[in-house]
Amino acid sequence: MEIEKIKEFDNEIAELILKELDRQRNTIELIASENFTSPAVMAACGTVATNKYAEGKPGKRFYNGCEIIDEIEIMAQERIKKLFGVEHANVQPHSGAQANMAVLLYILKPGDKILGMDLSNGGHLTHGSPANFSGIYFDVAFYGVDNEGYIDYKEVEKIALEHKPKLIICGASAYARTIDFKKFKEIADKAGAYLMADIAHIAGLVATGCHPSPIGYADFITTTTHKTLRGPRGGVVMCSQEHAAGIDKAVFPGIQGGPLEHIIAAKAVAFKEALKPEFKEYSENIVKNAKILAQTLIANGIDLVSGGTDNHLMIIDLRKFDKTGKDISNILEKVNITANKNTVPNDPKSPFITSGVRLGTPAITTRGFKEEDMKIIGEIIAETIKNSENEQKLAKLKEKSLELCGKYPLYPDIVQT
Ligand SMILES: *Cc1c(COP(=O)(O)O)cnc(C)c1O
Repeated sequence: MEIEKIKEFDNEIAELILKELDRQRNTIELIASENFTSPAVMAACGTVATNKYAEGKPGKRFYNGCEIIDEIEIMAQERIKKLFGVEHANVQPHSGAQANMAVLLYILKPGDKILGMDLSNGGHLTHGSPANFSGIYFDVAFYGVDNEGYIDYKEVEKIALEHKPKLIICGASAYARTIDFKKFKEIADKAGAYLMADIAHIAGLVATGCHPSPIGYADFITTTTHKTLRGPRGGVVMCSQEHAAGIDKAVFPGIQGGPLEHIIAAKAVAFKEALKPEFKEYSENIVKNAKILAQTLIANGIDLVSGGTDNHLMIIDLRKFDKTGKDISNILEKVNITANKNTVPNDPKSPFITSGVRLGTPAITTRGFKEEDMKIIGEIIAETIKNSENEQKLAKLKEKSLELCGKYPLYPDIVQT
């Protein structure tokens, strides 16, 4: 991070960036959708590739001077195709939402029917929420989770056969259990629907075999690159050759203008990292850490939706403590733990208040946190929930968090002056 260069011209922004670095260093980051990129990925984001207009695709650009940018983008494509074993990848979507928008634009007409997972049950805004383009332009039916917090595939099938959607969307933002893509494909076939698997959260786990892959089942696979995949902020659409031209056209000129080629360069670096054996080990550690965190919370009397986790995240159910997700996520901040409020199945509280808190281990696993640290974090969280009004106790818990952060320095090569 060339902070000195920013300082020379704009000390106000430089100071704020350094403050943010300080915040990241001194908090235990449990937001399940966040991660810490490598210095190489971060460096690629800050390069001359940001200067280039490259509308179109490699070999077919609307601007001159794209020969080298083409090589960068092709390298990103080839690496992610190898990582997931897919025929085609478009690496241009600016974010996960854009990747989803491209698929919907390609395969649907306004007013067509889609079936998605309800936002309050773990789905994403772009899966048909009335607040999002996906719910505004399309006719949406929803499935959710049962009282135990699991997807009920029989129920999904029933809804699919009743509504006959043109597209079924699976994949979630807050679901702690394995997603059965094969079952979703069987349901899609019975209903005569296309299937889109949005693996934004679990992409890193899928790439390394820590979660079953939707490849071979889903017609379209979308992902973010910045969650478990640990790349720069961005999105990708993957599909078979059959849909390649249509998807590319939907991304550009359908929904975007010039691609962010500096980010595509950083995506290529991240995909190279993800192809290394160390990344598989990292992904396995994410899951291991999540299991131990879940076990520790349960052992300390904290309820989890579905009673545990198969992946990188879990959702605390606060109902028995009569506390809200909004309050507890704010109080966790006082003990230097960052997490977000989340609804629980049949949540009696609104999405702004909620009865749950979502926790994930991708970021702290990158930092190096291990099993024994998960036990300490689990205890800090349980104590925080039980002593949420005891300021003295909270101050002590904050010291414990800071001690853990000190054990695993974040970006030690970036010096603050
Ligand atoms: C995070 C997420 C997205 C959107 O990603 P953005 O980059 O924030 O647009 C889409 N789908 C799912 C399931 C997600 O979890």
